[in-house]
Amino acid sequence: MQVGFLGGAREVGRMGISVKSKTTQLLLDYGVMLERQPGFPMHVPPKEVDALILTHSHLDHSGAIPIFYIEGKRPLYTNKLNLELTQILIQDFIHLSGYYLPFEYIELKTMMKSNKHLDYGVSETVGDASFQLLNAGHTPGSSSVLVEADGKRLLFTGDFNMEDTKLLKGANFDCGDLDVVITESTYASEDHTPRPELEERFVGACTDVVSKGGIVLIPAFGVGRAQEIACTLYGNKFKYPVVFDGMAREASRVIMNDKEFLRDPKLFTDAMHSVDWVEGWRDRRRALRNPGVVISPAGMLKGGPSQFYISKVGKKANNAVFLVSFQIPGTPGKELLDKGICTIDGKVRKIKAKVQHFDFSSHCGATHLKENLKKVGGKPKVFCVHGAEGNCELLAKWANTELGLESVAPRTGETFQI
Ligand SMILES: [Zn+2]
Ligand SMILES: [Zn+2]
Repeated sequence: MQVGFLGGAREVGRMGISVKSKTTQLLLDYGVMLERQPGFPMHVPPKEVDALILTHSHLDHSGAIPIFYIEGKRPLYTNKLNLELTQILIQDFIHLSGYYLPFEYIELKTMMKSNKHLDYGVSETVGDASFQLLNAGHTPGSSSVLVEADGKRLLFTGDFNMEDTKLLKGANFDCGDLDVVITESTYASEDHTPRPELEERFVGACTDVVSKGGIVLIPAFGVGRAQEIACTLYGNKFKYPVVFDGMAREASRVIMNDKEFLRDPKLFTDAMHSVDWVEGWRDRRRALRNPGVVISPAGMLKGGPSQFYISKVGKKANNAVFLVSFQIPGTPGKELLDKGICTIDGKVRKIKAKVQHFDFSSHCGATHLKENLKKVGGKPKVFCVHGAEGNCELLAKWANTELGLESVAPRTGETFQI
């Protein structure tokens, strides 16, 4: 078996892995790097690819897949929910960045038609390789991939979380002996606040602001995080109005049709029925007249209705902006967190509202990343990918010194014979 790293090596973004057996080439994810001009994984001639396997909808894993549908149709394996959420995100991506992309809506459409639904735990064979998807606990539908070919067994974790959240059940891999593990390394250098403690602090802080007549704006990514926040407020008996806006609405409707991917479908349904869905500008303005919580994309204030909300909510000191995801340097969210100002459409705004960060991550912290590697059977070769500067190397070094496993933080373009 040959494993090639096309992107996402020693970086977060443009994830792409090639797995080649004697007669078959599989691609695991093919995402983009979201910068001013999107970056892509290394090129692979589409006719040399037998199948694509997608772990989850996030654009750093899915955003470049339509390239394979410019000419011809390669089968794309993922579950129905991943596929539908991916469609929402790529549609938005084409809308925002179409000028820089080598594909259009038509390729996205062909991609949707080329999907082969693959549910968790169901084995599929293409050529001389077989594979299955396992729950990854990262976003609704998110998967890890187990590939068997040439007598070798490979696990690609994709993005994963082992801790239960309000929305999802944590990942718990039980794959037997493995020859290769490709693990994400996003948080190899830090742990997250335990969920129950984080939820208590977060709901307490929301209650504090709203009970004194303020509005809390929660910029949240539309797929997964927005729903997690709504479920957290509902599940902790938050008794004030919660408004739900932007792409989060469309994603929630899609998730509603595939509730079997959720930890507690009833909690999700009840939470979704408890929020006020914004249907237009009238609702949006009305949401700002009364104390309450507004959940709206984008998570880093880069686009989406959250930009409108912050221009109003940010003016008053009795309001608050609670950021609930990692803020990438260069985004308005990061600027807000560091300097208390927010530049939107070239206009610098001083934010008087209270600003606070809550670490609602959907990735494993360092302890869980290590625990997962400890649990794996056999003596697999470990590849650490999907991590910011230094983190892939850090986890690889740990697996080598502490577990005695041969471990590498590969570079983009490197291939390995297993
Ligand atoms: Zn992800
Ligand atoms: Zn990712």
